[in-house]
Amino acid sequence: MNINIITLFPEIFEALDYGLLGQAIEREDIKINIFNLREHQINKHGQVDDKPYGGGQGMVLMAEPLEKSLNDIPTNSLGRVINLSPQGSLLNHQKANELSSLSAITIISGRYEGIDERFISQYVDEEISIGDFVLSGGEFAALSLIDSLSRFIPGVIGNKKSVDQDSLSQGFLKGPVFTRPENFNSESVPEVLLSGDHKKIQEWKDDQALIRTFKRRPELLKSVKLTKKQKKLLEDLASKRIL
Ligand code: SAM
Repeated sequence: MNINIITLFPEIFEALDYGLLGQAIEREDIKINIFNLREHQINKHGQVDDKPYGGGQGMVLMAEPLEKSLNDIPTNSLGRVINLSPQGSLLNHQKANELSSLSAITIISGRYEGIDERFISQYVDEEISIGDFVLSGGEFAALSLIDSLSRFIPGVIGNKKSVDQDSLSQGFLKGPVFTRPENFNSESVPEVLLSGDHKKIQEWKDDQALIRTFKRRPELLKSVKLTKKQKKLLEDLASKRIL
């Protein structure tokens, strides 16, 4: 997959060089191409932004340097053009999965008050927000977007099962996990996990996932088809017999 990024701060993307994502980039399963907006500054002072028409706070990234940066990207590797913005549709598991199947995307990483609306209307296919909060720049949103979609690209995460069993992949949050030692500050690992009984362990994990989802993100349960057993557990939870 080709990921093009237009940014004023290319160095921030060095953070991609670590862990499984870094390895995927090294193998060229994912190609990151960074385009520095400053290369299309409109004057020798490095200007790429200007005051908003009609007044108001801050500065706005100008359409022209953005257009020129976009023109630096070969048309056949441009793919879907995504503007990161708190005004976009919220990034979620499904969206990350959908984007991972594209051969290329181009991410516009904004700063200041955002970017000239005419660039958005003329060039942007989609606007994405990573959450209902405002960041000072799109770079950190871009890093999150790239990391989340890369997990769905075959080979990036060695063990595909781990992606399939992650929170949200089956509509539930994942339950708690434990590792050595068996006893930590007088708190023991749940006994069932030491039993060696794989069927029981799986049932416990499934129940914990349901309980955790019910407690923390009950709205997620509206979108999953529950088994009879799960419905019964939910009824018990709702009537507070298990909590
Ligand atoms: N003035 C804009 C508004 O009110 O909608 C916010 C601009 S924000 C300070 C600067 C840049 O940070 C945006 O252009 C965008 O690239 C990025 N950004 C901020 N919050 C974001 C979010 N929740 N998701 C994605 N990108 C975000």
